[in-house]
Amino acid sequence: MTGLNRVLIARPLPCSPNDSVVRVFSGGRVAVRANCELDQSLTAWVPLLTPIAMARGCRLELDGEVAESALRAGRAAQAVLAGWYPGLHEIEVAATRVAEPGRPRADGVGAFFSGGVDSFYSLLEHADEITHLIFVSGFDIGLHKAELTSRTLEAVREVAAASGKELVEIRTNLRRLSNRYLDWGRQYHGSALAGIAQLLSPHLGRVLLPATFADDHAWGSHPLLDPAWSSEVEVVHDLPVPRVRKLARVAESDLAMRWLRVCYSAGDSEYNCGHCEKCLRTMIALRALGRLSRAATLPHEIDPGLVRGLRLKGAGKVFAEENLAALRAMPQRDRELERALATALRLAPWHAFVRRTVRRYESGRRRGRSFVVRCHTALSRRWRRVVGGRRGLLSRPDSS
Ligand SMILES: [Zn+2]
Repeated sequence: MTGLNRVLIARPLPCSPNDSVVRVFSGGRVAVRANCELDQSLTAWVPLLTPIAMARGCRLELDGEVAESALRAGRAAQAVLAGWYPGLHEIEVAATRVAEPGRPRADGVGAFFSGGVDSFYSLLEHADEITHLIFVSGFDIGLHKAELTSRTLEAVREVAAASGKELVEIRTNLRRLSNRYLDWGRQYHGSALAGIAQLLSPHLGRVLLPATFADDHAWGSHPLLDPAWSSEVEVVHDLPVPRVRKLARVAESDLAMRWLRVCYSAGDSEYNCGHCEKCLRTMIALRALGRLSRAATLPHEIDPGLVRGLRLKGAGKVFAEENLAALRAMPQRDRELERALATALRLAPWHAFVRRTVRRYESGRRRGRSFVVRCHTALSRRWRRVVGGRRGLLSRPDSS
């Protein structure tokens, strides 16, 4: 799969009923393994691979059977992604066999569950409807973090058992391919989850993707994008609700307060690191709600120095503004924490300016270097020609 090769081919490899494995030319072997049977057609690989082909600007060819509804859905999802991101181009998706609609959707209702605020909120809000929780290793926890994966699985298994839901456990190396071409958060994770949902079509007819944001700015999982991937399984983007309101609901649950996992920066031996932006964001919101002391997996004290030093950007800035409003609404206000968060928010444009300047400097340096390399190559070539020409003249036999 290079710039010269304008097609991305995916071919299924022999595997057990609990696996779905394809060879992507030339992106390597991509595998999804589950603790239950998976759909053996290539339908799920439409959402899994289309954004990657869009980033490469090449045609996607699936060498196997794909549901007609998935090809139709793919066109709608592509229009959304290409409308948001200039680097993603609408492309053609083809399959060697197209299956007409046949079987009705399964009865099960799934919800992706990582143990975070959004996951717990969706589980609590839709407890009557959800029959299965889906946990994926290899998405927000890297496959190399064996200890953290095992501890999180233990937590998720306990949550599933306590809430009477069947747990689907998935393990995949998909991000090793997608990270080469796409930003996981901004461009891809909703499509990846929608693909996993399609693989579960033998069991589930509907799958909820917990929402991250309350507004509708462009993001990898979005109320416009996620449902657009619906085919054999209906994909639902759960209701967008402000994070502090979600936490207020989540903090009522003993199970959530025992197992809440919000950190993406945790080392292999940690569960929540307690000092990254995401941990602090959650701790501040719980503090504003008067529930921080109930959270068993987070520190109960917040260091204002750490909050002041936060380099807020994007989503972090949005959530910090929500948190500041919540802190100011507390009956007994924590002025020091308010001041620390307000300072971090005030410094955010400055940090953004520094980041932009460093990026420009770095790219300028790279461009400068490539200019020097180009000059060097051109001069070397010319020099070789001149020297070669002289050698030719010198070695030419004297015709006189
Ligand atoms: Zn953390």
